[in-house]
Amino acid sequence: MRMPAGQFTTGPNHVVWASVNTVTDPWMRTVPASTHRSERHNHAKELHPMKAARFYDRNDIRIEDIPAPEAAAGEVLVKVAWCGICGTDLHEYLDGPIFCPQHGHPHPISGEDSPVTLGHEFSGVVEALGEGVDDLEVGDHVVVEPYIIRDDVYTGPDSKDYHLSKDMNFIGLAGRGGGLSEKVAVKRRWVHKIPNNIPLDEAALIEPLSVGYHAVERAGEFEEGAFALVTGAGPIGLLTSAVLKAKGAKVIISELSPLRRQKALDSGVADYAFSPAEVDVLAEIHKLTDGRGADIAFECTSVQPALDLILDALKPTGKVVIVSIWGKPASLDVQKVVLKELDIRGTIAYVNSHPETIKLVESGKIDLKPFITGKIAVEDLIDKGFDTLINHNETAVKILVTTDPERLAE
Ligand SMILES: [Zn+2]
Repeated sequence: MRMPAGQFTTGPNHVVWASVNTVTDPWMRTVPASTHRSERHNHAKELHPMKAARFYDRNDIRIEDIPAPEAAAGEVLVKVAWCGICGTDLHEYLDGPIFCPQHGHPHPISGEDSPVTLGHEFSGVVEALGEGVDDLEVGDHVVVEPYIIRDDVYTGPDSKDYHLSKDMNFIGLAGRGGGLSEKVAVKRRWVHKIPNNIPLDEAALIEPLSVGYHAVERAGEFEEGAFALVTGAGPIGLLTSAVLKAKGAKVIISELSPLRRQKALDSGVADYAFSPAEVDVLAEIHKLTDGRGADIAFECTSVQPALDLILDALKPTGKVVIVSIWGKPASLDVQKVVLKELDIRGTIAYVNSHPETIKLVESGKIDLKPFITGKIAVEDLIDKGFDTLINHNETAVKILVTTDPERLAE
């Protein structure tokens, strides 16, 4: 999940506080009592309200108390530790609803409409297991692959296309709870256990890192030392670069913002970072590659000049993966594609990418710490989180949010 780079103007925000138990939520799932494992042990718990950041409409996100979910059969109740704010969340706030179902128009799979709880980049701890879930334990650290996908779609370990299935959407956008709350009940299929050597704050970045992982996978095999050009060093450009470095590529970043170029170099994910406003990036790439050109390229800006640069910078038979989301058609110098036999490929989200992505972090090949640039309480979501990312987006990469005051004190 990611959004085009660029400036956003902020609209009026309406953060409304609802007092405990004043929200009646007709969109909460009801689950037969017999499947409520925790209910059998603790009736009081079911009534426990929890904090959640909910999307109502454009410029209308409210921090409210809503009933906490429970683990139904086949589900895992996750107590959220940290949840990242994604560009997609900002998009919903400024221009939405896009992924979020409009009020009165329920999503065809989740059956829910707005208000919906936000947050799809999260880590947490297993708090309860629903009936039939016996391969996880309470206390396990987990991340969630936040898909909402039809039950009849094959999602086995060799599927390469479940993420492209009809009406696919995301937990934390189209219903089924979200990471910007205390707890989420998630189908076992979408819960991935992580080892305890990955801190839970860093683990919240595994979801966007999986986007980078799948993007790199889409480029196919490449040799150790291959030159990879990445245009744009926003969160997804940086995390895609992190995967490229971990897989042995030499990474060249083209990015206008000096702060972002510095972050790319300081975090070690880029070998070279050039400003297209200050240097002839094409000439620099030709210098670095003895005139050959880059082997692969990843477009992470959704701006035309970046796409133009890539077509010129790639070597003959080079491959470009378009990672950014384009709000309008781009122009393409097709003759360059023809004469260099270039491959142009798209990529969206991830598919069976989480296990390998987790291994890259677990092994230490990718260090996610440098990309955490802020930690805030959910109460500050709009004022400190969204505002920073909308108005000062060069200074921030990932801002993590928690509902748990103890996590902030860590
Ligand atoms: Zn996202």
